[in-house]
Amino acid sequence: MPEIRKDPVFGRWVIIASERGLRPNEFRAGQEAGYACPFCAGHEELTPPEIYSLPGPDGRWRLRVVRNKYPALEAGGSVENRRSGIYDKMDGMGFHEVVIETPEHGRLLEQMPDEAVADVVRTFALRVKEIKNDGRIKYVMIFKNHGRNAGASLLHPHSQIIAMPMAPLRVMQEIDGAADYHRERGTCVFCDIVREESEFKLRVVGENADFLAVTPYASRFSFETWILPKKHASHFEDLPGSQASSLAAVLKTTLAKLNASLPDLSYNLIVHTMPVQEPSAEHYHWHIEIMPKLTHVAGFEWGTGFYINTVSPEDAAEILNTGRKFKL
Ligand SMILES: [Zn+2]
Ligand SMILES: [Zn+2]
Ligand SMILES: [Zn+2]
Repeated sequence: MPEIRKDPVFGRWVIIASERGLRPNEFRAGQEAGYACPFCAGHEELTPPEIYSLPGPDGRWRLRVVRNKYPALEAGGSVENRRSGIYDKMDGMGFHEVVIETPEHGRLLEQMPDEAVADVVRTFALRVKEIKNDGRIKYVMIFKNHGRNAGASLLHPHSQIIAMPMAPLRVMQEIDGAADYHRERGTCVFCDIVREESEFKLRVVGENADFLAVTPYASRFSFETWILPKKHASHFEDLPGSQASSLAAVLKTTLAKLNASLPDLSYNLIVHTMPVQEPSAEHYHWHIEIMPKLTHVAGFEWGTGFYINTVSPEDAAEILNTGRKFKL
């Protein structure tokens, strides 16, 4: 059973999951003879039991959700805080699921048909709605690691969902920051960003009726890109079914542009949303953050929480919109 320990200085929680160290690395294993990708069609017996799937036209699946074989958090266990001496810890209770986005091994998300990407997005929302019925779960993190430099251990297109019994510090800092902004100005900071960026168009890389993709004003990483719903919404899982296609369209455009300009792209994609047991909020607005991995986070960043970004977000938007190749 993994353990969740609280850092007594920061109040930040850390998952200690030793078993996860044993998981295979396909970037190594993929080169070995006889390697079978567990996410490919026909290898269903290599994954843990299926939680959800969508049938394809041929009667086989076109998308599957399975439990992670090497979970960071596990169902069962208690969410009771256990103090010993100066330290606090909890059982590593939670859920860790894998969304296998396609049966095809080599197909990138941005190369999939619009409706297939919309299915992925709808599945994310559906899983969160289902998971939050368990009142012990406070936060559900949806993320995707793509490419060797982004920490992906399997090549086959997939995303992950980790449901946890507390809201993470990083998320709470963002929500608190947005709450301060709302208190001072009476508006949602993300709605204001959408309005400002749509008007000046200096950093817009994708747009349709429902969503806006921008390289944020204070981007931490080169080519960092956010996707924001134009209409205020605090909870991602409440995404109207009709908006799944428009979100898929902007997501595909954004990833295609990043791929065109950044050869051999590795990235992390995350969904930031309100803690699932909280009611709708006026001050917070869910969004997607995509962080291309061009450099490693190093000493200065770790030491300060400050980032040095060598490509201005205005230049990044210009490069992405013209399709120019970029090399650091
Ligand atoms: Zn595969
Ligand atoms: Zn808003
Ligand atoms: Zn965020």
